[in-house]
Amino acid sequence: MHREDFPILESRINGHQLVYLDNAATTQKPLSVIQKISDCYLHHNANVHRGVHFLSQDATELHEGARRRVQRFINAGSSDEIVFTRGTTESINLVASSFSEAFLHAGDEVIVSVMEHHSNFVPWQLLRDRKGIRLRVIDIHEDGTLNLDSFRSLLSSRTRLVCLSHTSNVLGTVNSVGDIIAEAHSHDIPVLIDGAQSVPHLRVDVQALDCDFLVFSGHKIYGPTGIGILYGKRRWLEQMPPYQAGGEMIEKVTLEKTDFNVLPYKFEAGTPDFIGTVALAEALDYVDSIGIDTIAAHEQSLLDYATSQLLAVPGLKIYGQAAHKAGVISFLVDGCHPYDMGLLLDQLGIAVRTGHHCADPLMQRLGITGTVRASFALYNTREEVDTLVKGIDRVASMLR
Ligand code: PMP
Repeated sequence: MHREDFPILESRINGHQLVYLDNAATTQKPLSVIQKISDCYLHHNANVHRGVHFLSQDATELHEGARRRVQRFINAGSSDEIVFTRGTTESINLVASSFSEAFLHAGDEVIVSVMEHHSNFVPWQLLRDRKGIRLRVIDIHEDGTLNLDSFRSLLSSRTRLVCLSHTSNVLGTVNSVGDIIAEAHSHDIPVLIDGAQSVPHLRVDVQALDCDFLVFSGHKIYGPTGIGILYGKRRWLEQMPPYQAGGEMIEKVTLEKTDFNVLPYKFEAGTPDFIGTVALAEALDYVDSIGIDTIAAHEQSLLDYATSQLLAVPGLKIYGQAAHKAGVISFLVDGCHPYDMGLLLDQLGIAVRTGHHCADPLMQRLGITGTVRASFALYNTREEVDTLVKGIDRVASMLR
């Protein structure tokens, strides 16, 4: 649906109509977002905050309007709880750095899961080495769902934070984060949710979930690269020290000391990507104009269709068979290296991702080195799934 809004989908790649199935890595952009970026540079470009001239105030209003747009999209209680970052990765690094400074001491424990993206794994591993915290890792079941008994067994009086992906970028599993948050909160433990793969695909309401932090990236939700979100409950953000230092994040600086700005600016050192924020708001408008529930239903039907078609391919195994999955399918075909499969599918114009998907601990847990991954967005079609399945059949017969 709405393919006409995405000019790049008309591309021909290697002589074939593009079939873009790498949406978990990044989504394509609708014309309205592309035009918004050029409109901002053509008509609204001046540095934000504290400018007395017209264009600066204009840009500031658009930028702060974008913050309120994000707030509405995830139903945060206040726009002060919306921090602009470069993306999911920077958001998690911000929390790892700043939360740990305020709240973590040697011997304290942080719980992650074995299905985390490196972005939600390596920052905590670095902290382990720098600060002597302990990293505890929730295991999964064979079907790719989280092992809740493993989670419960890891909770201890030293647990200070749980950091978990809402949706796995490899297995597609949608974790029951509501239950995990409730359970963690019953022990007064805050929870960070990595929403990189969930916010673009299902309704996420931070107040209903009651998560303490939610992070996601603009480029995976039809917005531009280089802009991301950290939502944090005010009570945490207020107690956390600044992440980076420079302009914007200060209230007053003397030779002796610096008073920091109020939320959220305390965490936004330097000139923000004020064109990126406005373009992200445009992307959220676009998503809302279709409806996130409509998008979710469309992607679910593609997932169901693709799963049944792929399972009929001889020798094909799907990794991640949870009952509640998002539009991500990882698979391997007997006798075919995923890299070769990806290269040859590309010759047919089909863009899939191959490799470890920045989830090496998960690959080790599954006993494989990588998979082929197809991931869906609102503009994908059943015909594209058919093209993928035919392509896999053809490539598999060549490789064998
Ligand atoms: N977490 C998950 C679950 C992801 O899928 C990704 C992107 N593949 C990231 C984090 C990192 O996002 P970014 O590269 O936009 O910071």
